[in-house]
Amino acid sequence: MTHAQKGMLIRTRGLYRTFRQGDLTVEAVRPLDLEISQGEFVALQGASGSGKSTLLHILGLLDRPTGGSYHLQERDVSTMSDDELSDYRNRLTGFVFQNFYLIPYSTALDNVLMPGLYSDIPLRTLRQRAVMLLEQVGLGDRMTFKPSSLSGGQQQRVALARALLLDPALILADEPTGQLDSATSADILDLFGKINELGKTIVMVTHDKETAARARRRIVFRDGQIESEQVR
Ligand code: ADP
Ligand code: MG
Repeated sequence: MTHAQKGMLIRTRGLYRTFRQGDLTVEAVRPLDLEISQGEFVALQGASGSGKSTLLHILGLLDRPTGGSYHLQERDVSTMSDDELSDYRNRLTGFVFQNFYLIPYSTALDNVLMPGLYSDIPLRTLRQRAVMLLEQVGLGDRMTFKPSSLSGGQQQRVALARALLLDPALILADEPTGQLDSATSADILDLFGKINELGKTIVMVTHDKETAARARRRIVFRDGQIESEQVR
């Protein structure tokens, strides 16, 4: 059993999430069994409101399921305290959002360093790593720039470098190219592809078919459940 599960990063069983909306209960994610192995590049596709972000937030430990189980790297996260959960989140996951969510008054370098403030890694080491990551995403000459002096594509590169700072097992991205023109989107998606080739597991939400086609495995969501799945 343990051997068969080697390399399994994500495993959910009957995981679901409901929200109260006035008198209504919305079933954002219906009971879901999902397995994702280390190194996969998965796209979560589906119409607006189909539950993609809700699932991504749960997988990234930003939200808890209403029920069912979720194992991330063999640990049952549903039993963790809030403190344990945020520690685990910081170490294991990196999030990239549609709107970048950079700190506007901090430089690119300081933004990338942010997740490190809660770790016990020495600042010197973190800084070396942040510089290396900014160089990797093509922003070696923009490290002291603030977000407002960077283009959207450059801001998303900073966000990606930030997500990679603590070398997480899992990168989660919610419509990462949603604010970008098509040429810039292609560049960002190339970067995701490279990061995946270097071994990072990526789960990317998109409502766009072409964007989803960048991933090897595509899961189509509809009304909070998997409608279909394709592996190329
Ligand atoms: P998607 O990302 O696919 O557009 P979401 O996961 O954001 O879909 O939403 C799925 C459903 O859950 C929608 O009906 C949405 O209104 C509802 N929902 C999501 N988040 C909340 C929330 N915090 N409170 C109430 N309802 C929510
Ligand atoms: Mg969404």
